[in-house]
Amino acid sequence: MKILFASAEAYPLAKVGGLGDVAGSLPKALKALGHDVRIVLPRYGMIKDSLEDVARFPVDLGAAREEAGLRMARIGGVPVYLVDKPDLYDRPKVYEYDDDGKRFGFFCKAILDMLPAADFWPDIIHVNDWHSALVPAFLRSTSAGDARFRRIGTVLTIHNLLHQGLFSRELFEWLGLPGDLWGPEGAEFYGQLNFMKAGIVSADFVNTVSPTYAREIQTAEFGERLDGLLRSRGSKLSGILNGIDYDVWNPAKDPFLTQKYSKSTLERKRSNKTALRKEASLPEDAKAPLIGYVSRVTAQKGFDILIDALPKILDQGVQFVLLGTGEKKYEEPVSELARIRSDLMVWLKYDEALAHRIYAGSDFFLMPSKFEPCGLGQMISLRYGTIPIVRSTGGLADTVVDVTGDASKGNGFAFREYTPDALLEAVRRAVGFYHGGRGWKSIVQRAMSADLSWSASARQYVALYEKVAARVSAAT
Ligand code: ADP
Repeated sequence: MKILFASAEAYPLAKVGGLGDVAGSLPKALKALGHDVRIVLPRYGMIKDSLEDVARFPVDLGAAREEAGLRMARIGGVPVYLVDKPDLYDRPKVYEYDDDGKRFGFFCKAILDMLPAADFWPDIIHVNDWHSALVPAFLRSTSAGDARFRRIGTVLTIHNLLHQGLFSRELFEWLGLPGDLWGPEGAEFYGQLNFMKAGIVSADFVNTVSPTYAREIQTAEFGERLDGLLRSRGSKLSGILNGIDYDVWNPAKDPFLTQKYSKSTLERKRSNKTALRKEASLPEDAKAPLIGYVSRVTAQKGFDILIDALPKILDQGVQFVLLGTGEKKYEEPVSELARIRSDLMVWLKYDEALAHRIYAGSDFFLMPSKFEPCGLGQMISLRYGTIPIVRSTGGLADTVVDVTGDASKGNGFAFREYTPDALLEAVRRAVGFYHGGRGWKSIVQRAMSADLSWSASARQYVALYEKVAARVSAAT
């Protein structure tokens, strides 16, 4: 099949979080299955090297016709189209600009308008999160006049429903979205333009990144005010678990580690712990288990309960390293605590290499998320034999089985209630298990044996694309 994979991020060209990991790895897995898959991204400021110029092409918006450049790069053999529009994208960051609505709205229209210049006519355009979610909406009007567009099917994957892309009605007009989409049945959301909602109502199929999150977002607790709409799509909403990129995340080949290791050379994992402890200036207490945390420092990731529980977690005789950036209201108290505790190290930055060393050097990996569409940290840590302690929600519930509940399948520690006490209790059980010694090696080996690659999930995506393509071709 011919697949165009649209995303705001794709590792290693541009990554902010899990979306970047997925867009950098799922297309490679689809290519390995024999499909012609190509990625499309905006050409941001950090994407500069060895780019090929392909063409210039017009982008038709409501009131104006603008021009953009089409350039090309590659990720592991997968061609990457780059929409080059310097006034919108030639900046140091991916997101968080005042004109993000215009930046990603333009991106969505450019994805369709570049196809003639690229001379690439995909069977499926797979869009991801709100940044590319207007593509299926634009396709309605584009396809009216051109049969080549009518044959394209669309899939929208929701990686995080919290971020929907809400902007003014003026942007709707400026972009020139089909007028009939303005209304509660369409792209409008309480008087504003909602990119994600436009995608949900317009895409041929909507899925999300884990089976549990697919169920959760149909409830008021997790639905971010779109649960009613998502319930109404019920049968067309599925969950496909993300995989991780085994080329990037492999302790036996990881160039960032002090010592590489595998299931059969587990003793070498220890030198990564020693090195990490040194890097973090933690005391050399051979008995203390080391808990790692690599994630955004936000409410979603469980910071309300973590800030509360952290002093008591440290009092369990553990050491803790935290790497992440996010909201000041959490960054400040956690760094304040690190100033007075010798058993806690906090790095408030983004650092890919250090993240690898934390995954490898820790005994446990903590993810007390309030909600978690899929979560990659727990999967990466399993692959590194670092036992996850997680709140059982979304993809965490689908990937981590509590060892106390099922000793033969268990690969981590899980708690349900979103409270500091429940978190603390899970850490207590984990630390007790670690010191108990019995079963530790087998849980680590079981963690490292699980198949967390893309191979199964990529096949599920192909099956989904085929279903959508068949439906589209029957309708045209
Ligand atoms: P989300 O996409 O919600 O941020 P995920 O668990 O799906 O969370 O993916 C997060 C990805 O970003 C993982 O690959 C993680 O290692 C990485 N990451 C998050 N924060 C940092 C950081 N400060 N430094 C390096 N890598 C980070």
